[in-house]
Amino acid sequence: MQEASKKEAQRIGYAMVGGLIIGLVIHSIGKAEYVNYIKPIGTAFISFLKMVIVPLVFSSIYMAMTNLGTPEALGSMGRKAVGYYFVTTAIAVFFGLVFVNLINPGVGISLGSAGLQDLSQDLATKVNENKGLLGTIIDVFLGAIPTNPAESLATGNILQIIVFSIIMGIVALYLKEKADPVNKLMGSIEEMSLYLTHGIMKFAPIGIFVLMLDVMAKSGTSAIASLSKYIATVIVGLLCHAIFLLFVASARLKKSPLFIIKGVSAPLLTAFSTSSSAATLPITMTAVEENLGVRRDTAKFVLPLGATINMDGTALYESVAAIFIAQAYGIDLGIGQQVIIFMTASLAAIGAAAIPGAGLITMSIVLSTVGLPLEGIGLILAVDRLLDMFRTTVNVFGDAVGTIVVDSFLDDSEIHR
Ligand code: ASP
Repeated sequence: MQEASKKEAQRIGYAMVGGLIIGLVIHSIGKAEYVNYIKPIGTAFISFLKMVIVPLVFSSIYMAMTNLGTPEALGSMGRKAVGYYFVTTAIAVFFGLVFVNLINPGVGISLGSAGLQDLSQDLATKVNENKGLLGTIIDVFLGAIPTNPAESLATGNILQIIVFSIIMGIVALYLKEKADPVNKLMGSIEEMSLYLTHGIMKFAPIGIFVLMLDVMAKSGTSAIASLSKYIATVIVGLLCHAIFLLFVASARLKKSPLFIIKGVSAPLLTAFSTSSSAATLPITMTAVEENLGVRRDTAKFVLPLGATINMDGTALYESVAAIFIAQAYGIDLGIGQQVIIFMTASLAAIGAAAIPGAGLITMSIVLSTVGLPLEGIGLILAVDRLLDMFRTTVNVFGDAVGTIVVDSFLDDSEIHR
């Protein structure tokens, strides 16, 4: 790992802990409103990261395609990546189901705070809009087709951008030298986006300090206390899954777990403080390449796709939350229904956008498929922001490990850089 990125990760770590402690102090003396004066610094940091996402994803996937050389090589990498996503998401949900059934965090919870009236109007509308299992699968597929690529780029629809750049990359492979001018342009955009990411990272400590300060100063500790068993179930499940991923990564990369944690500490801390896999993506890309030695073309293809559809933390969270709600309402779920939760939680995670709070919205898919009351979301709303930080960190870690695993299964003939 390079000395500079080690220092960078250390600075981010100190900033996070500093923000956490000072935020808690501000919360305890009841002066949370003062944080609003500096909050724009944190918002600006996230906005700059978001600024890089579209040009970076578009150009890097396109370049990965053209470097792969043949559509078959793309197929090989794609199959491995999707296989990894499926297996690890299933394992994550399994961990969630095991712990929630062991700990039973919802048994005996008071339903006093449940109710759609507790949800914000916007969220309540989205929750009511659910379309059932099949409808959701169809929506995910149809929604990935970029009917107007300019609109996909303008609105930052990452899944559509990925599909468009894969298609354009394949076309470029067939057209060979006729596509050279675009290849050159895309290559430059990619280099410029990566350079820019390094620049933005210089502001990460201050940005993350402010983001942590804001969350801690404003988080309600009373909600945390009453839902402590539920919070503990989610965190223990996430931790177990993260440890499992760590060992997989360590075995495939043939490096110590500590080496891996150090290598991805900057993206993990950023994921924790921003609660957005998408905003963290530029940082994850540079970290796996520069610190863990993942080949560039693997990182360029596997990471953006992973950030969009591979969300182990969210899948685990949704399965725990659904069973927690069932327990709180005294609804007994049989094994058949738990299997349905297993499938829908994985699907809901694929459908969730890589932004803060997205997992809470797709919860409605899980709840409605097994006939649980949607109002139950009101029960977990108060601590969703907090748990989002943890699940996003695991989402990003799962993506990083995915690049290591896929890269380790590709031989040199399948990849150039
Ligand atoms: N915030 C998560 C992410 O960006 C998605 C979620 O809400 O679970 O990965």
